[in-house]
Amino acid sequence: MRALVAALFTALMLVPVASASAATPAERFPADGADMARAMQIAADFWKTQPCGGQVALRWTRLEAGTRAEAAWRNFDSAWDNPSGNFDCNIAFSTAMPFEWPDLCTTVVHEVGHLLGHQHADRDEHAVMAEHAIEPLRVCGGTTPAATGASVRTGSVARARRAAIRRCARRMTRRGVRAYAARRTCARRVAARTRLR
Ligand SMILES: [Zn+2]
Repeated sequence: MRALVAALFTALMLVPVASASAATPAERFPADGADMARAMQIAADFWKTQPCGGQVALRWTRLEAGTRAEAAWRNFDSAWDNPSGNFDCNIAFSTAMPFEWPDLCTTVVHEVGHLLGHQHADRDEHAVMAEHAIEPLRVCGGTTPAATGASVRTGSVARARRAAIRRCARRMTRRGVRAYAARRTCARRVAARTRLR
């Protein structure tokens, strides 16, 4: 039943793409194209900084039904607390979602927000870091003013990750691994799991 619902949902999402334009979003906005570069520049202007030293790999791919995009990154220290140390950064866009420019641009600003250490801020449904139903930002040709893009950082996820790294490092040092190496390996493990829509 679940698979059927997912299939139906995906099918429904695909219909507008087919009727709106012959070309798919992935064809209209290629990952290495000018529009993606423009969206990344708008995101850098929005957050007033470049994510991951300006090194972010973009790609179109299959994602879970209903997911527009996902950001992923690594960090030796923490998933959230030291975004300037984020590396191996990438943003994946779903080939099954009906992106128009305002959606694509706003999604890029949202995902770049994750790469810059911003977590979801669901308390303000208009905030660009809201997990669901993001309205296109004005800077992306939408009607939502950029001023509502403020995000709320919650410390609980970061604290939980730090604790997970400490527990993992303690286990490794008990097995004879040196403290620095243990911490680095554990941070990499935790960081490798950092993946957000
Ligand atoms: Zn998100």
